[in-house]
Amino acid sequence: MSEPSAVTTVAQAIRAATDVLGPRTDTARLDAELLMAHALGVSRSVLFLQRMGDAAPAAFADLIARRAAHEPVAYICGHQEFFGLDFVVSPAVLIPRADSETLVEAALTANPDARRVLDCGTGSGALLLALLAQLPAATGTGIERSAAALEIARANAAALGLANRAALHQADWSTAGWAAGLGRFDLVLANPPYVEAAADLDASVRDYEPAEALFAGPDGLDAYRILVPQLPALLAPGGAALLEIGHTQTAAVTAIARAVGLEAVLHHDLGGRPRVLALQIPLGKAATSA
Ligand code: GLN
Repeated sequence: MSEPSAVTTVAQAIRAATDVLGPRTDTARLDAELLMAHALGVSRSVLFLQRMGDAAPAAFADLIARRAAHEPVAYICGHQEFFGLDFVVSPAVLIPRADSETLVEAALTANPDARRVLDCGTGSGALLLALLAQLPAATGTGIERSAAALEIARANAAALGLANRAALHQADWSTAGWAAGLGRFDLVLANPPYVEAAADLDASVRDYEPAEALFAGPDGLDAYRILVPQLPALLAPGGAALLEIGHTQTAAVTAIARAVGLEAVLHHDLGGRPRVLALQIPLGKAATSA
């Protein structure tokens, strides 16, 4: 048996924190590792390769206490990876989800040569900026009603070297006239709020993420009812709109789209759930100004 050490190592502290977080999250070990890497100011691979035997930093305990109170790791660390890019996040923006990468893939499939892209409610800018990073010839417009979120989107555009191709404006797509002068787009993206008002969300979402980015009326469809009828006037010929949906909302959102002459193609996320609808004006039909 080795002598008990007076100093807690990084490895020991991660193990202890995993036990503390275990009852509260499915990702206890991962969360503990990410928070330790953040406390040490290193990447997770440097943590594993070089730092496991070091003395645990004093700041780690506080980070674990915050996570134990359900604060999301992304808000504690201030950033989140999405589509292979690093995004700054704050509680002013929804944390980009892996599920939403399906929307970026679907946009690239729907219109691989897109030149003009609009993101309605851009939040952190994750969807728009990930897409622009994939489409070097494209320019984008992101609109966002929250000034605090817009600041985050602008910081991300600058950090990713995309500020010259991303115009980020404060606007609210539920207000008449918001799109005046914007023209038409090859791709329109939106991850609108779609959660039912009474939904039983995880505390890390409900207590920390912006309610205005999550909730959309009793059936979660209010945002689609406002946004979808505006899409025919925003789409260029051959253009497509990509909407993230809740996994039970395929039929309802498809019906809202059909009512304004749009056809819908469903895309599933990596978990196999319905996640994105690609909406287009059927071939041969002129764009209406609905
Ligand atoms: N998918 C998100 C969730 O965690 C909801 C995102 C949204 O409403 N746009 O519930």
